[in-house]
Amino acid sequence: MKKKGIQRFLSGLLGGFITLFSAALADPLPAHDLVFRTPNEDSEVLCDHDFCFWQMSEGELDEDVVWEVLMQPLTVLSGKQRDQVLVRARPEKDCMDYVGVVTCASQGVHVLRQERDWTLIEAYSSAEEGSKVQVWATRFQGYVETKLLQELPVDDEYGIVIDKLQQRLYVYKQGHLYSTLLCSTGFPREDTPFNETPAGEYGIVSWVGAFWAGSLYCDKALRINSGIMLHEVPCLISMDEATGKEIRDYTRCERYLGEKASHGCIRIQKEKTPEGINAEWLWKNLSRKPVTKVIIWDELGRQLGYPDEDYPLYYNPKGGKNYHSSPDCLLVNSKYRPMTAFTWGELEDTPYSKLTPCPGCAPQLRKEGIDTVNAKNARK
Ligand SMILES: [Zn+2]
Ligand SMILES: [Zn+2]
Repeated sequence: MKKKGIQRFLSGLLGGFITLFSAALADPLPAHDLVFRTPNEDSEVLCDHDFCFWQMSEGELDEDVVWEVLMQPLTVLSGKQRDQVLVRARPEKDCMDYVGVVTCASQGVHVLRQERDWTLIEAYSSAEEGSKVQVWATRFQGYVETKLLQELPVDDEYGIVIDKLQQRLYVYKQGHLYSTLLCSTGFPREDTPFNETPAGEYGIVSWVGAFWAGSLYCDKALRINSGIMLHEVPCLISMDEATGKEIRDYTRCERYLGEKASHGCIRIQKEKTPEGINAEWLWKNLSRKPVTKVIIWDELGRQLGYPDEDYPLYYNPKGGKNYHSSPDCLLVNSKYRPMTAFTWGELEDTPYSKLTPCPGCAPQLRKEGIDTVNAKNARK
């Protein structure tokens, strides 16, 4: 165990004692992982870093640990934002045995063994529909030419964490969790395995703007991995015949926020969190240079448990159809704030059983909602 590892081990022990002594006073837990995994736990070759994304528990809640990883520079492969490198099984130019795909400029690679001509790296494959190498979103190790490696410094004010298990996007600000947003990552089906969003480390490399995906209008798109963007939850656009004004209808996709639903992009809530954060805020406030780092935790092999029965929720007894995570949710008229507390364990009782989760403040899901998330995440 390295020095840092020992420190972590000791503080873990100390934390364990504190947990024991304060068990009666502990805050109720939200829905959380039932098993903790690290991205590299099945890796063939391990790195010699003190600590990195690949050694971190997916679903990690410790702010210091998350921030340490968010602040580490990103090693990318040089090239254009839509270029992709096919990664070889052996360090040879004529090796046609490809093990995965890495997107240039934005996708971080995990450097394992760097030599003069070739470097052994690890990443989640970013193969797209129609790719020559049909490795979809899975972790692999292979060789790239060392001359392609390029280290990017990252922004030290904000960092983004996306958890594919929780289907939430966390905004970190200067070492602290600042706001929690609902998102939808890719939802692959048997005939569309390329729709899975690859996990890993990324940088936001381009403010793309709006685009159409079939009949859906996707606004405020930020490129993080070739065709994969962070963008506002899509809407349908129609024209009001009487006034000639444009009408944007978000209901079709908004109800899926908090579960897998997209073709690979990360859809982000349009409504504001209690901290005032939404897709538009990300578009306006994140750093272009140095790049804002985005880490994405894989959901493979993980399972979401239920919150503690006494986990707090809020509602407005005078009306409204939603339940909330915050007594001061911005989606509720200020005259009804702060709202009235109840608990997760009471959600199925009257009058709470008819309430729907608020699209602004990311409240804990019902038991049924957590079961849906786990079923959608059951990727082989
Ligand atoms: Zn490492
Ligand atoms: Zn709310």
